[in-house]
Amino acid sequence: MLILNGQIEGPEILVDHARCDLCANCVRTCPMGVLKIVERRVVRREVVCIGCRNCKVSCGQRAIEVVGQHRILSAARQIGYVPLKDYPPYEGLAPAKAKLAEAKG
Ligand code: SF4
Ligand code: SF4
Repeated sequence: MLILNGQIEGPEILVDHARCDLCANCVRTCPMGVLKIVERRVVRREVVCIGCRNCKVSCGQRAIEVVGQHRILSAARQIGYVPLKDYPPYEGLAPAKAKLAEAKG
């Protein structure tokens, strides 16, 4: 579970470690810096996931699932990003990064 401003939960990120080959594509493509590799496993950091699904799409091993539709919408809207229809991958990257930079000042 992930909390943003003490109010909402972000989506869940499920990683099939048996399929994962540790290529780190998911780590590099996540606009929020949610994922990292620790002791040869992809794990989640305590930061907000906006449900953009870049990690899932970038994974050639099909090892990632992003679940929790209502949480995805809620998380995205909390940072002012309205997902496009069906949340196409990468479409969310630029606005998410811009919003993040703005938030960091
Ligand atoms: S869905 Fe997007 S924000 Fe969430 S972990 Fe994957 S790439 Fe990062
Ligand atoms: S993109 Fe897929 S295979 Fe590569 S590190 Fe992430 S989960 Fe593992």
